[in-house]
Amino acid sequence: MFQKILIANRGEIALRVLRACKELGIQTVVVHSTADADAMHVRLADESVCIGPPPSRDSYLNIHQIVAACEITGADAVHPGYGFLSENAKFADILAAHNITFIGPSGDHIRIMGDKIEAKRTAKRLGIPVVPGSDGAVSEDKEAKRIAAEIGYPVIIKASAGGGGRGMKVAHSEADLEVALQTARSEAGAAFGDDAVYIEKYLQKPRHIEVQVFGDGFGRGVHFGERDCSLQRRHQKIWEEANSPALNAEERSRIGGICAKAIADLGYSGAGTIEFLYENGEFYFIEMNTRLQVEHPVTEAITGIDLVHEQIRVASGGGLSVKQEDIKFNGHAIECRINAEDPRTFTPSPGTITHFHTPGGLGIRVDSGVYSGYKIPPYYDSLIGKLIVHGRNRVECMMRLRRALDEFVVDGIKTTLPLFRDLVGNADIANGDYDIHWLEKYLAKEE
Ligand code: ADP
Repeated sequence: MFQKILIANRGEIALRVLRACKELGIQTVVVHSTADADAMHVRLADESVCIGPPPSRDSYLNIHQIVAACEITGADAVHPGYGFLSENAKFADILAAHNITFIGPSGDHIRIMGDKIEAKRTAKRLGIPVVPGSDGAVSEDKEAKRIAAEIGYPVIIKASAGGGGRGMKVAHSEADLEVALQTARSEAGAAFGDDAVYIEKYLQKPRHIEVQVFGDGFGRGVHFGERDCSLQRRHQKIWEEANSPALNAEERSRIGGICAKAIADLGYSGAGTIEFLYENGEFYFIEMNTRLQVEHPVTEAITGIDLVHEQIRVASGGGLSVKQEDIKFNGHAIECRINAEDPRTFTPSPGTITHFHTPGGLGIRVDSGVYSGYKIPPYYDSLIGKLIVHGRNRVECMMRLRRALDEFVVDGIKTTLPLFRDLVGNADIANGDYDIHWLEKYLAKEE
């Protein structure tokens, strides 16, 4: 087992990882920018190293400084959290070259899944169902037309190097296709320095369903069920559930089994998430994230298993603490992402939190690094906390969520809490009846 782990992140996830290390009796080092000197994870860590000024590229993305911090403090492993360097293959390789363990998969697996065309090809080869479309990048308009006609309109043009929902264009007919291709190529070139694009069938009312997987480092794979993250604004998830209200037990074990087998065949090590669009009973692979996800706590709530403990065990060569048959799903969990944003316009609202009071009681978990008097720096993302609620079934979970949201107090800044208070009383949400476009439509109606 590791003696000392360096946490290369900030905010709630740095605190989340720190808690797991403490429970396992592992010493902790955190790195931070000058803007985060007062952050909770810095206060609670055994050691901290200031690695630079506020902008992420000079601090949380500065590989050189982070490696130096490992060497100064004698850390033997790095947990990257999510975002920042968590899916940076070069970072994983550099750490390996310094004999420091990256708590995550190999650089090669990160690389494969980071290239969307390569990821899709790999998924297909591993028996994972994918969205019908071109086999790789499409450079000729004529070829694009032929493929689109074959799979049927509407189609979506996506950037091979894509991410964050950028460089995607929908074409509803052949007349739209040329313009869509041109715009997608130029957006992709500008955003990623790579104008390769590919074509997929555009699904009209899908849900976003993702499967939590783990490779144990010895060639075995398991799944921890799925999460439904269909409530999204501009492709950003805001509310996540486990299990999905749309799946039955047979579908759950079928897709879970396919994913677990793929992970084993790939020889993958550590935590991953295989993301699907789901429509009319069919799953369509869109991408794989090779890291811990923001929404992992809903899976922890229904399985009772600490996924960060498992990541650390696997990375240290100790394997998983559970086998597939030990993973049982109990009840229902929902996570709301509380952002420092206006609940209607989603404009960031940094500033000082004058009063912060979190709900409590059975089935309530709040993961947050903020406190009364905390000043939110304007340099980073606007997530200030996550409320995770667990109940014996979805109805109990929703009742408890409504009560917890009423208790939550964040004064001094705007937050997305009022939006969740509205959503929890909405009939479609109560029925679990929503797709990936539901929230945007709802917000447009409210304006
Ligand atoms: P990114 O890596 O840029 O986030 P993804 O491939 O994960 O791109 O897709 C992001 C979102 O775009 C999906 O969650 C979904 O809302 C939408 N999307 C992607 N592919 C399709 C598709 N084939 N049909 C319909 N919507 C899609």
